[in-house]
Amino acid sequence: MNIAIDGPVASGKTVVGRALARRLGLRFLDTGTMYRAVTWAAVESGLDMGDLKALSSLAEEMEIRVELREGEQRIVVEGTDVTDLKRSQQVELNVSEVSAVSGVRRALVSQQRRIAAQDPVGIVVVGRDIGTVVLPDAPVKVFLEASLHIRVRRRYDEFRRKGDVRDMQRLTADIQMRDKIDSERSDSPLRPAIDAVRIDTDGLRIDQVVGRIQELIAAS
Ligand code: C5P
Repeated sequence: MNIAIDGPVASGKTVVGRALARRLGLRFLDTGTMYRAVTWAAVESGLDMGDLKALSSLAEEMEIRVELREGEQRIVVEGTDVTDLKRSQQVELNVSEVSAVSGVRRALVSQQRRIAAQDPVGIVVVGRDIGTVVLPDAPVKVFLEASLHIRVRRRYDEFRRKGDVRDMQRLTADIQMRDKIDSERSDSPLRPAIDAVRIDTDGLRIDQVVGRIQELIAAS
C-alpha cells in the first residue's frame, strides 16, 4: 500500500505524511529532503547553480541513505546526517532551481522508486511529483492545498519554534517564488495527478487531514 502526497510549500505534506505513516505503521519518505541534500552538497562544494551538468553528476554520484531512527527519517549523505541542515537559508534559496534540473530529478526519482519498491508493506511518500511521476500507480493519491497566508503562518511558526524569527514579508516572497519555479518548470511540474483527491487544509487540524486520508485508504 503506497500513498502519494503532493502539494505546494507548507501545505502540510510532511507533518501529515509523517503522522499518517505512524498511525498506519508504514515507512515515510520526504522526497523534499533529498532535493535539499543535493542542494546542500552543491552549496558546500561551491558549485555554480547554473551548471546543469555538474549538478546532475553530483546527484547521480551522491550516496543518499534514508534511515529510520526511532521512527524519524534521517537523511545520510556520504556518512553525514544532513537532516537538520536542510532548512538553512542557502538551501532554501537554491533548492527550487536545483530541483528543476532534469538530470537531478532523474537521479533522485530512480532512488525514490527503489526505496519504495524495497518496502515490503508500503510507504507514505511526500513531494511535488509523487502522484504524477514517482509512484503513478499508487492506489491513494492526495494533493494538499492551503491558502497562502495560512502557509506563511505555518512556516513562520515552524521557524519561530526553533528560535529563528523570520520576516513575514520575506517569507511570503520566498514561498511564492518557490511555488512559481516548482509549478512552471518543464520537467515534472507541481500539479495534482488526474486521479488525486484534493484536500483544502485551511481550518483543518493535522489529525483531521490524516483522518480524511484514512477514509480514502479504507475506500480504495
Ligand atoms: O517539500 P520541501 O519544501 O522540503 O521541498 C523542497 C523543494 O524540493 C521544493 O520546493 C521543490 O523545488 C523540490 N522538490 C521537488 N520534487 C519533490 C520534492 C521536492 O522538486 N518530489
